[in-house]
Amino acid sequence: MSLDMFRLDNRVALVTGASKGLGLDMAKALAEVGADVIVTSRGLGDAQKAARDIVTSTGRRALGLACDVTNRSQVEQTVADALAHFGQVDILVNNAGINIRKPITELSDEEWRQVMDTNLSGPFYLCRALAKNFMERRYGRVINIGSILSTVSIAGRTPYASSKGGLLLFTKTLALEWAPYGVTVNIICPGPFQTAMNESLLKDPEAYKAFIAKIPLGRWGRPGELNGAVVFLASDASSFVTGAMLAVDGGWTAQ
Ligand code: NDP
Repeated sequence: MSLDMFRLDNRVALVTGASKGLGLDMAKALAEVGADVIVTSRGLGDAQKAARDIVTSTGRRALGLACDVTNRSQVEQTVADALAHFGQVDILVNNAGINIRKPITELSDEEWRQVMDTNLSGPFYLCRALAKNFMERRYGRVINIGSILSTVSIAGRTPYASSKGGLLLFTKTLALEWAPYGVTVNIICPGPFQTAMNESLLKDPEAYKAFIAKIPLGRWGRPGELNGAVVFLASDASSFVTGAMLAVDGGWTAQ
C-alpha cells in the first residue's frame, strides 16, 4: 500500500480557531503532509503569527486571517479572501470552539448564545459559505471538531454538550446532503487535551485526577494526538468515509 494516499499536495485547508491549541496543531499537521493552509482566529495578529510558524516549520504557504465564526458576514468575507488567495478550498476544519461551565441556574442568555453561536452556528456559516466551492468542484473534506460531549455528558455543561451534540447530527445530515457531490463530512470527537480551554481543570488537581479516572488509557491526550485523525479524514485515505464519528478520547466513550 502506498502511503501517498495520506499526502495533501495541491490541497488547500481552512482551519478555524487555529491560532493556538488543537487547531494550530492540526493546521501544522495538514501542512506537514503537503497542504497550503488558511489559519483563522478572532485576533488577526495571532492568526498571522500562527501562519508564519507554519511557513517556517513546514515550508508550505499559509495565510492568517481574522474571523469570528459567530459573525456571518466575517465568515463570508474570510471564505471570499481565502478563495481569492488560493483559488480553492479543499478541506475545512471547523475547530473554533469555547466552553462555559456552569449550572443552568447560573447561565445567562448571552453565555448560552455565545457557546451555541461559536460551536454550532460557526460550522453552519462556514459550510454554507463554502458550499458552492465544494459542490461545483465535486470535491471537499469537511472535518468538524466535536467532543466526548457530543455523545455523553457531564453536569454543568448544558451549552457545550448541546452544541457539540448538535454538531454530530449537523455532520451526519450534511454528509447525506453532500454525498452526491463527492464531498465528505465527518466529525472527530476528542477527549481531554491540555489546552487553554481546560486551564481551570488543569489548575485543580482533584478535577484533573477525576478526569483521568474516566479515561481507560489513564491519561490526558498529548499534543499531536489528533493529527493522525485529521490527516486521515482530510486525505484520499478516507475516500469511502462520510458521516462518521472518530473518537480520539483514550476510550472515554467506550464505557
Ligand atoms: P483553545 O481555547 O486552546 O483554542 C481555541 C481556538 O479557537 C483559539 O484559536 C481561539 O482564538 C479560537 N476561537 C475561539 N472563539 C472563536 C470565535 N468566535 N471565532 C473564531 N475563533 C475562535 O481550545 P482547544 O484547542 O482546546 O479546542 C479546539 C476545539 O477542540 C474546540 O472546538 C473544542 O471544543 C474542541 N475540544 C477540545 C478538547 C480539549 O480537551 N482541549 C476536548 C474536546 C473537544 P481567538 O481567541 O483568537 O479567537
